[in-house]
Amino acid sequence: MPHPPDSDRPVIDLRSDTVTQPTDAMREAMMSAPLGDDIFSDDPTVNALQDRVAKMFGMDAALFVPSGTMANQIAIRSHTEPGDEIICHQLSHIYLYEAGAPAAISGCSLRLLNGDRGMFTPDDLRAAIRPVDQHFPVSRLCVIENTQNRGGGSVWSVDQIAKISEASRELGLKMHLDGARIMNACVASGTNVKDYAQHFDSTTICFSKGLGAPVGSAVAGNKTFINRARRFRKMFGGAMRQSGILAAAANHALDHHVDRLKEDHENAATLAKRLSKNPKIKVDPCETNIVYFDLNESAGTAPELEAKLLQNNVRMLALGPQRLRAVTHLHITNADIDHAAKIILESIGT
Ligand SMILES: *Cc1c(COP(=O)(O)O)cnc(C)c1O
Repeated sequence: MPHPPDSDRPVIDLRSDTVTQPTDAMREAMMSAPLGDDIFSDDPTVNALQDRVAKMFGMDAALFVPSGTMANQIAIRSHTEPGDEIICHQLSHIYLYEAGAPAAISGCSLRLLNGDRGMFTPDDLRAAIRPVDQHFPVSRLCVIENTQNRGGGSVWSVDQIAKISEASRELGLKMHLDGARIMNACVASGTNVKDYAQHFDSTTICFSKGLGAPVGSAVAGNKTFINRARRFRKMFGGAMRQSGILAAAANHALDHHVDRLKEDHENAATLAKRLSKNPKIKVDPCETNIVYFDLNESAGTAPELEAKLLQNNVRMLALGPQRLRAVTHLHITNADIDHAAKIILESIGT
């Protein structure tokens, strides 16, 4: 049976940019991709994607992996030893949403930093660092997320990152970029991805978020790092065989779905603006494709609004008693945003 065309999708699904389905052109690219056994390094489509991602980041090499979580956890395991400490923001994906993996898989503890919109400063980092002493864990790795999801889809500037990286070098820390949405950061700030990546020892990118591929992420770094990462990918069960069928979708996404991220950003900004006109809604600053907002209690609760929206075929996530999130993506049009804003405003009354 053919898959339903985009225009037949009845629900305006703003829960996440992970809900996208491959376009017809992407499916064609997947079906016609030359394949081989990637564990023998024989898959030309995977090899092409990995070379391309390495070049894009200005790194020696890259590995294609099943998920963003695995990309982060392979990087963490490759950089650390059990007992080490990782420094990151308390709103980090690696802390909030990866099932405790740094502790379970790598035996690392997390030192959590505060700061507006998921960001921190070199001084925050310096204050968190442990002296060299047998009592203390070894502070080994600093992780930055860009864009910062729970921070509001916020965008780190190259300058901010350069300063954190400089402090990390002084302190003997490695730097890892959780770049699940790094292309959103690049498009929003007009930055070349290399300019971000030069400040890191390892970087990731997700193809299955705003880029619209069904599966897959990549992790990049220098040769020594990637050799270790390849072993851990195997150990974690993430080495795949004819995975070129998936890498083809990622290649297609890099060809066709990067520049268009600006449409997602425009749509998110429009939604934020429409909602902010209602005094019962407090909207966080919107920098990319993620809109967080809080409902005044007189407008009911977030789960109540989530349920009302669903009855009207609009989907969003309630993330707290009064807090909701909407994320724009490939399948969301101007008209959808108009309609969704209208339904939200009608649902909470004036
Ligand atoms: C989605 C996401 C990931 C990885 O998620 P997977 O679902 O495992 O692909 C990692 N970091 C951030 C910031 C994310 O938003």
